[in-house]
Amino acid sequence: MKIWRVDLSNHKVAQEEVPEKYQPLGGRALTSQVIYDEVDPTIHPLSDENKLVFAPGLLSGTRAPSSGRISVGSVSPLTKGIKESNSGGTASQDLAKLGVKALIVEGSSEIDNLVLVIDKDGLRLEKDESLKGLGNYDVGDKLRNKYGDSVTVVSIGPAGEYKMTAASIAVTDTDDRPVRAFGRGGLGAVMGAKGLKAIVINDEGSSGVNLQNEDAFKEASRKFSKIILGHPVSGEALRTYGTAVLINILNEAGGLPTKNFRTGRFDTADKTSGETMTETIKERGGKPSHACHPGCIMGCSNVYHDENGEYLTAGLEYETIWAFGAQCEIDDLDYIAYFDRYCDDIGLDTIETGVSFSVYMETDFMEFGDKEEVKRIFDEEIRSGTPLGQIIGSGADNIGRVFGIDRVPTVKGQSIPAYDPRAVKGVGVTYATSTQGADHTAGYSVTANILKVGGEIDPLKKEGQVDLSRDLQVATAAIDTTGLCLFVAFAVLDNEDALPSIVDMINAQYGTELNVDDVSKLGKQILKIEREFNEKAGFTKAHDRLPKFFKSEKLPPHNVNFDLEDDKLDETYKF
Ligand code: SF4
Repeated sequence: MKIWRVDLSNHKVAQEEVPEKYQPLGGRALTSQVIYDEVDPTIHPLSDENKLVFAPGLLSGTRAPSSGRISVGSVSPLTKGIKESNSGGTASQDLAKLGVKALIVEGSSEIDNLVLVIDKDGLRLEKDESLKGLGNYDVGDKLRNKYGDSVTVVSIGPAGEYKMTAASIAVTDTDDRPVRAFGRGGLGAVMGAKGLKAIVINDEGSSGVNLQNEDAFKEASRKFSKIILGHPVSGEALRTYGTAVLINILNEAGGLPTKNFRTGRFDTADKTSGETMTETIKERGGKPSHACHPGCIMGCSNVYHDENGEYLTAGLEYETIWAFGAQCEIDDLDYIAYFDRYCDDIGLDTIETGVSFSVYMETDFMEFGDKEEVKRIFDEEIRSGTPLGQIIGSGADNIGRVFGIDRVPTVKGQSIPAYDPRAVKGVGVTYATSTQGADHTAGYSVTANILKVGGEIDPLKKEGQVDLSRDLQVATAAIDTTGLCLFVAFAVLDNEDALPSIVDMINAQYGTELNVDDVSKLGKQILKIEREFNEKAGFTKAHDRLPKFFKSEKLPPHNVNFDLEDDKLDETYKF
């Protein structure tokens, strides 16, 4: 494998040998290490000194189940700290098969609308003015016409071109739709600042991934698949209702943030639940289960049709439904699906954008629940980049600053997602302390707090939450390295044979002799360098705190506040 590097300032491309210290790394471990090694933490994230580092997971490109996740690392324009964002879709497997250990994009071009083409012969830069201002759906269509139907397209929409700090980077899925995304952290703005509109990946004629011990790999992979499929969440619930199965569960638990985190129950939540969504999809001829990349056996994704039975969007997820639903007091699933489609096309993170709207609804200019006005702002303001469109596309913190609103649910500049930290305290610890800003995936304590996976810890009490979050943050950093979808964690937490199977697959692929302790060491090492990077960027303990209203306001229906003391939060990173 090689490191492939593109210098956009000089329009130069290169393939480099992989340094020894990078050889055991992949995914997040590699992106964070390269950012740590090559980028000054004090730079402006949109300057040409920033880099984008794309890295397939260690198991990507193999037949390991659900192993097609890819990481991108950078300095985030939203958090101003180190960022790892990961995505499904077909990019990870394609790059791994082409022998790309990491793709490093650096510098910035004076010419916009560049396309980086990657295939078995290497990489080259081309210019395509016709892509300017296009949404991700049209970009994909044009590039497939030009480079072939089977290519993967990684692209930014207008939001990235405008350098909105909630901008995402889209990745096409198995149906060639730009519905998977490096969503969080505004990395679409970094790509836009570099003048790079799209990356086209064609794996035709690639040599594929080499396995050191094919039989051992097959055996471990078979065992791991069985464990995943045997778990009620990863083997059944995700496939039946998608991640939206969580709407009713969190609502029942009193932890579904509603009306900008004023209560933990949304009266009409059921209209937007996974059960309702699945029924609607079936009635209209969509797909209630769908795999975002070949080889995913959990299939949490879906294809959602409009009331005329025409395709509207795909990959409609719990966090998106929540962000435009309960958080904004909107209970119309078709409107929410439209907003999801819009975010995928223009290239915006659905969580950040939904929370941005909810903060805008705190002003005198908009009411909670006004779905028509959300639609109008999407259609008339955001796509064309009016001043209001740019403000809303630049995140909740930004809206708070512009309109003088202090009820802004963010940590380190990034919006808090779909689990109220007062009613799911373990995830509150993760929001506060993660190196990534508020991010549920960084340490998904919803497992033991709500789902009773990997043990059981009372979500309303503070006891045990710091240890839970710490363990999950370490484990997540390691899983983000493998290319495995994080949803395998449900099975990993409940079945003691799961982690050894992952280690066996890695050993069989690379001829290594890792053990399960090495996985934990790797997770800790990743968090350590990410934290050190953030400290050099100016982060202190004061940044590891939730907004004050979570401490001072009690959340109905359980009337609980976030009561973990600051010094307890500071213990999270003691390992
Ligand atoms: S479980 Fe869902 S997100 Fe994960 S790889 Fe499969 S389809 Fe993609």
